[in-house]
Amino acid sequence: MKEKILKTLSQHFDGLMALIYPYFCVVCGEELNQKSEHFCFSCEEDLHFTYFEKYDDYSIADQVFWGRLKIENVYSLLYYEGPTSTREILHDIKYNEGTDLAHFMGRMMGNRLKSHPKYADINAIVPIPIHSKKEFSRGYNQSLLIANGVSEELGIPVVDALQRKTHDESQTRKSKDERYQNVKGKFALKEKKLQDYNHILIVDDVLTTGSTLEFASRAIFEGGGNVKVSLGTLAVAH
Ligand SMILES: [Zn+2]
Repeated sequence: MKEKILKTLSQHFDGLMALIYPYFCVVCGEELNQKSEHFCFSCEEDLHFTYFEKYDDYSIADQVFWGRLKIENVYSLLYYEGPTSTREILHDIKYNEGTDLAHFMGRMMGNRLKSHPKYADINAIVPIPIHSKKEFSRGYNQSLLIANGVSEELGIPVVDALQRKTHDESQTRKSKDERYQNVKGKFALKEKKLQDYNHILIVDDVLTTGSTLEFASRAIFEGGGNVKVSLGTLAVAH
């Protein structure tokens, strides 16, 4: 009886909260019913999924790193091009205090990674760090929030193994070459952080030229991290 009353009260409370703070779909802006998180049913169905978790051979995300360095597997949850939904998600995560959304998308990614044996032996998740000045102005590191969501689904820890060496300028206006130079040598492996692990997943929000993820991986190899490296991003540009 007591449980039933509590349940009824909590349902009323959720309803009341939705009246006071209604939630809206990230993509189409429709008001959400209580069962939906971040997306209405049809927008969630229409997300631009890559389905890389169903691939047995390589994907376009793997190809980004060919001839550059040895990466085990590269996973991306969504395509960046095409419908605008992916851009809306990334924008919300970066600029609209989308902390819950980042975590939710991380769980969505983790859930799909679980279904492929290629990722079964990963035993730590490493977020791409942002410089503390940027984290301070934004209030959070989106890669860490995504990593937390992945970690929750896979049941393996997030290890804060990388540090960014200097503050770099915003990359958005730079050409591919300039961007490459800009991130070169910007990461370092923290000492003894990865000694208990043998296959890690480095997590970031989006894969474009791959330079950030390449240099994060290099920092791990050059810093003596004796691990296999896979990469996971919410989106891939192709
Ligand atoms: Zn919608």
